[in-house]
Amino acid sequence: MRTDLPVYIVNDAIPPFIAFCRERDLNRFLLVADTNTYPALGRRVEAALRDQGWDVRTAILHGDDVIADATYMMQVLLAGDNVPRTYVAVGSGTITDISRFLSHRAAQKFISLPTAASVDGFTSIGAPIVVDGAKITLVTHGPLAVFADIPTLCAAPRPMIAAGFGDLIAKLTSVADWELGHLLWGEPYDATIAQRSRDAAWAAVKQLDAIANAECEGVKTLMEGLIESGFCMLDFGETRPASGAEHHISHMWEMLLLREGRHSVLHGAKVGVAVIVSAQRYDAIKAMSRDEARDRLAAAVLPDRAADIAAIRVAFPHMMDELIEIQAPFLDMTEAQFGALKAQILDNWDTIRQIAATVPSSAEVVGWLRRIGGTTTAAEIGLTDAEFELGVRYGHFYRNRFSVAKLGRMLGLV
Ligand SMILES: [Zn+2]
Repeated sequence: MRTDLPVYIVNDAIPPFIAFCRERDLNRFLLVADTNTYPALGRRVEAALRDQGWDVRTAILHGDDVIADATYMMQVLLAGDNVPRTYVAVGSGTITDISRFLSHRAAQKFISLPTAASVDGFTSIGAPIVVDGAKITLVTHGPLAVFADIPTLCAAPRPMIAAGFGDLIAKLTSVADWELGHLLWGEPYDATIAQRSRDAAWAAVKQLDAIANAECEGVKTLMEGLIESGFCMLDFGETRPASGAEHHISHMWEMLLLREGRHSVLHGAKVGVAVIVSAQRYDAIKAMSRDEARDRLAAAVLPDRAADIAAIRVAFPHMMDELIEIQAPFLDMTEAQFGALKAQILDNWDTIRQIAATVPSSAEVVGWLRRIGGTTTAAEIGLTDAEFELGVRYGHFYRNRFSVAKLGRMLGLV
């Protein structure tokens, strides 16, 4: 365990949580939960804090679709007062993000008590919040500690467990993308962290049946993997070990749903479907001979700048200026640079195929997600086929990183 960010994944998280608060002399709290997580764990946490004679205020967020926007943040502020308090986030990703952001802005600390192994962001310093219908991620702070109560995690709704699995197997495609970025685009890379990230994902795959049955041993492995993924990002200082083209696609879909005020879908549910898309691209690379790659690269033409900017406008209207700026290395590529990149791809074709070989096949990914009760189709995450395709084609504009999406584009895979 890292001493700078203690993480407990235990059968009863409340005693170590109380002991931690006592050691740190914390005695004023603002507990944040929603109408599901309060009965699941929040009420017991609140009672345990009060039993110590400590001062607790509680914000219970109402509604089926809690998002990290101004309305819900206002609910938390209304439950508070003008006294400095440690925020206690009892919930999954959104409750944690709200608590992370508000505690940071109030110059207070927060402690995370996850109620579902649904996402890898518990230890993150980034707070994704929704402003004017667009999601932005602000650098804030990580929790003082994480206390995960295993029986609560096992009793979480199955779609949340499936979403956590989707977010965790995304490390298999994101790390491969990272290696492509290192090989072909000179991106910084750390082999040890890459391996840790992969190991976390494979450990969960090995426990697939136990996770699918919500058995505690399996769900514990899933949560440990998600926490490890979070640590990989913290240790590397960027999201690269845990986020590749599959996340970029998912972000585009998410923004589309947000923009139109449609039902939000769990992060890991969208990411899991996008992992299938990336795995399909890797399938194609695995099957592609060097000769075929050479022919495809020879046929590739430098993308048209104006057409790419028009695509960014369609895919990410709220972020157009920012994305045009970060995409500059691709948008402004000259014929000579494009030719050099093609040559580099061909020169490294064997290594590229070795990287592709680390990725499970799309058929395997679909099988895993079905076994776990996860989502695998556009319709299951509330998208039309056309919207799904938008993410597949244009998701890569969300980051300036090289990924299988950028490579696939050069190989004519989309
Ligand atoms: Zn994720």
